[in-house]
Amino acid sequence: METTAAEVKRLQSCINDLISVLALPAIWSGNEPSQIVGTLLDVLLAMLRLDLAYSRLSDPSDGPPIEVVRLSQRQNPSALPQEVSRALDRWLSDGQTTSRVVIPSHAGEAEVAIASFSLGLQDEVGVLVAGSRRTDFPTDIELLLLRVAANQAAIGLQEARRSGDQKRVAEALERRVAERTSQLTDLNEELQQQANLLDQAHDAIFVWEFSRTIVYWNRGAEHLYGFSRAEAIGRLGHDLLNTEHPMSTTEFEAALERDGEWTGELTQTTRDGRKIIVESRQVMMRDKDGRRLVLETNRDITDRKQAEAEQKRAAEALRQAQADLAHVSRSTTMGELTASLAHEVNQPITASVTNANTCVRWLAGETPNIEEAREAAIRSAKDGTRAAEIISRIRLLFKKGATEREVVDVNEVIREMIVLLRGEATRYAVSIRTDLAADLPQLMADRVQLQQVMLNLIMNSIDAMKDADGTRELAIKSQQTEDEQLLVSVSDTGVGLPVQANEIFNAFFTTKLQGTGLGLSISRSIIESHGGRLWATENSPRGASFYFTLSTKVDPE
Ligand code: ADP
Repeated sequence: METTAAEVKRLQSCINDLISVLALPAIWSGNEPSQIVGTLLDVLLAMLRLDLAYSRLSDPSDGPPIEVVRLSQRQNPSALPQEVSRALDRWLSDGQTTSRVVIPSHAGEAEVAIASFSLGLQDEVGVLVAGSRRTDFPTDIELLLLRVAANQAAIGLQEARRSGDQKRVAEALERRVAERTSQLTDLNEELQQQANLLDQAHDAIFVWEFSRTIVYWNRGAEHLYGFSRAEAIGRLGHDLLNTEHPMSTTEFEAALERDGEWTGELTQTTRDGRKIIVESRQVMMRDKDGRRLVLETNRDITDRKQAEAEQKRAAEALRQAQADLAHVSRSTTMGELTASLAHEVNQPITASVTNANTCVRWLAGETPNIEEAREAAIRSAKDGTRAAEIISRIRLLFKKGATEREVVDVNEVIREMIVLLRGEATRYAVSIRTDLAADLPQLMADRVQLQQVMLNLIMNSIDAMKDADGTRELAIKSQQTEDEQLLVSVSDTGVGLPVQANEIFNAFFTTKLQGTGLGLSISRSIIESHGGRLWATENSPRGASFYFTLSTKVDPE
């Protein structure tokens, strides 16, 4: 009976211990592996009155193992945990499960009975070792309790590892989310800053998806076109602005694809219906999803264009005014010449009248001298024709109109002008000498304009000699040069070129009281329009020479 009562008590205490061991996982929940093992060893040391309890946990990521040692102070107060673990390590690596081991301590060595248990299948979690100096250690009940405790610990440790892993994954995830969030915040800020910057730009800047609708519209665009951001986004750019493009849509898109960008001028219509001209630069981009976008930057150049057009109109008006002035100047010059021209024309007319009278006299009387009368009539007709010729040339000079190219003999033009101006030359005691090349080729030119050039040059020479001392000689020479050009020179023995010689071809430059300063500039533009050149040089010892060339080869038109 006594035995039975003791057995019952032992079983009762065993059940109590088992219940305690089974309750351990509840305490462990949320603990680190080292804490779990710590409580386990403490509980076992106290419960089984052990002298040592030891556990070694492997590190799942191949780090060094975690070792925990508990020693009973009562039994072996001076044993050193490191030495215990070294001794057990040796013992464990021999593959033992239960035996005795000598534990070193400062107070001498103690022999301890050992029992070891794997934590998890094949030690993948670690090992648990219990030791006692009692000779009967471990009893069956102790073995049972230790195995159950080892199992519980293995489950608890695996659970802790799993939740540790989960926690690490969750933490890593959280860190990445935080990093990404901060990156996105930065990016957002950057974009916002860029958008703000684009808003600062004076130009109209907008972005449209290739072949599609507007996705960005800056403040400059709102300002220029009058459409708000909300009105513009989602619309087709060319529809909204009624863009007149120099290329067809297909051509333009192909050019953008090929070159990545396009620059040019566009005509567009604003919200209030105003037509504007913009200088446009369009650049093809891709966003991070590979979407093709076009960044269009437009600058309003309407005012500049209008100014340019006005400038062009003004230049055209000036050119017209110059042409009118030239005509007036020519008329004025001719007006001044009227007296000498009248004399020039009067001469053949008087001669003609005289001859006509003579003719009449030969025919009168009883025996008219037919032969003499005929001679007189021929002379009269010749003089009349000469007068008519002079008048028709003068009329030609007054004619104003578009240039007319015809086959011209330059020597003939020179001679005609000499005939016209001889009276004027004589008036100022100017002698005219000519040296005209006999075989000069004809060329295509505006006869009236060439007459005008000769008129200007000869009149300028006469002017320069009017008040000059010494011989007054006007020399006119024509020749053909080696490079198929005609060279005409008009030289005088006048006062010579003014000090501002380099300005004489400028329009309105004159040193004369009644001068217009147009003669030479008009002459130069006439010669240049015929593909030639007009220039002046000083003569030695006095006077000036004017030269012009004309091409005989090509028709300059
Ligand atoms: P303008 O009608 O005032 O003479 P031009 O264009 O014909 O205008 O000539 C401009 C200036 O060039 C003249 O005022 C004169 O000073 C100078 N000039 C032109 N021809 C001669 C010349 N043969 N000798 C000296 N100076 C000349």
